Amino acid sequence: MDIHEYQAKELLHQFGVENPPGALAYSPEQAAYRTRELGGNKWVVKAQVHAGGRGKAGGVKICSTDSEIQAACKEMFGRKIVTHQTGPEGKGIYRVYVECAVPIAAEYYLGLVLDRSSQRVMIVCSREGGMEIEEIAASRPDSIVRESVEPAVGLRDFQCREIGFKLGLEADVIQSFVKALMGCYRAFRDLDATMVEINPLVLTEDRRILALDAKMTFDDNALFRHPQISELRDKSQEDPRECRAADRGLSYVGLEGNIGCIVNGAGLAMATMDTIKHAGGEPANFLDIGGGATPDRVAKAFRLVMSDENVNAVLVNIFAGINRCDWVADGVVQALTDNPASVPVVVRLSGTNVEEGRKILEDSGLPIIKATTLKEAAALTVQAWKDSVKPQMTAPAREVEEPA
Ligand code: ADP
Ligand code: MG
Repeated sequence: MDIHEYQAKELLHQFGVENPPGALAYSPEQAAYRTRELGGNKWVVKAQVHAGGRGKAGGVKICSTDSEIQAACKEMFGRKIVTHQTGPEGKGIYRVYVECAVPIAAEYYLGLVLDRSSQRVMIVCSREGGMEIEEIAASRPDSIVRESVEPAVGLRDFQCREIGFKLGLEADVIQSFVKALMGCYRAFRDLDATMVEINPLVLTEDRRILALDAKMTFDDNALFRHPQISELRDKSQEDPRECRAADRGLSYVGLEGNIGCIVNGAGLAMATMDTIKHAGGEPANFLDIGGGATPDRVAKAFRLVMSDENVNAVLVNIFAGINRCDWVADGVVQALTDNPASVPVVVRLSGTNVEEGRKILEDSGLPIIKATTLKEAAALTVQAWKDSVKPQMTAPAREVEEPA
């Protein structure tokens, strides 16, 4: 789970990471009012979205007057911001953070990630702050400093000092740098984060070390241990399909293709997606309906998959052990009876109560395409999808020919 910059700054501050004074606002008027409360004579208005690269996309504006702040906010609120991290659809701006502008002497990159291959927390730093890490890695790989943390002893002060000196920091600011890095590490560890990124971490002209940006991602499987973090979830920033799935207790990941998948078990769901690709199609989603799925749950899963307008065909692939094919069939029939699908539906059932399940599909009189093996099911789905989109694919070609 991702959180906003202002939330990450607040959390990190509790661990000793300093940042400039700032406040959250939900309207241009509130932003102006908040800046008056903050004091000072220069501020930064920052769009709060779950993505980096806002500066280049107009989501970070420096302002010196009340009216500049309101104007900057009016340009942001309600708009969608598109950065290289949002995807082409962008992310909506519904909150802004106003922060006192600070005079910057140098910008650094500081990131903590979970390195799965070494099974350790990895610290990644660079004196090329402000740029995205991918850019730094491509243009100045020599500037990147890496240090992994031995889990049994944790991050040590001497390691932080070493990193600081490698970044070129001078002795008078090393202690503040150690405090910032230690704070990030403790927050990472204590809150079950998978990523903490401060870009840029700056040295100010009055020689303070401050986090000007902050990003944190948390391990979803550990959120039950941190209710105060779970509460920070902002659904407006997430894929609406995935939110709906999470609310229904389904494990769903939206993808770019057009073949909807309804499967039981994560492994079988992965194999189904592979087989669809092998047959020449593109899966529209990963979906695991779990074990012991009731007809109601299956119907909900079906409606969720169908709510994606890119879906042109659906493949239901069930290998029932704990599940029951008759319940799955009931669910599919229930969903299709309530809301007849305009796209071909292929169902492959195997395992517990398979005969009963097939009979339910047969007796329903619905135009469901039945398959026995996964290979056959994938091939039938891809064929049905190709047949169903053919007329639309040829239509524009004819239009182009007409003027000639
Ligand atoms: P993003 O990474 O999404 O582009 P940042 O929060 O990193 O957004 O802001 C972009 C740039 O704006 C920073 O690299 C920094 O130069 C500048 N900036 C951000 N906050 C402040 C601030 N409080 N004072 C001065 N400059 C700032
Ligand atoms: Mg940044």
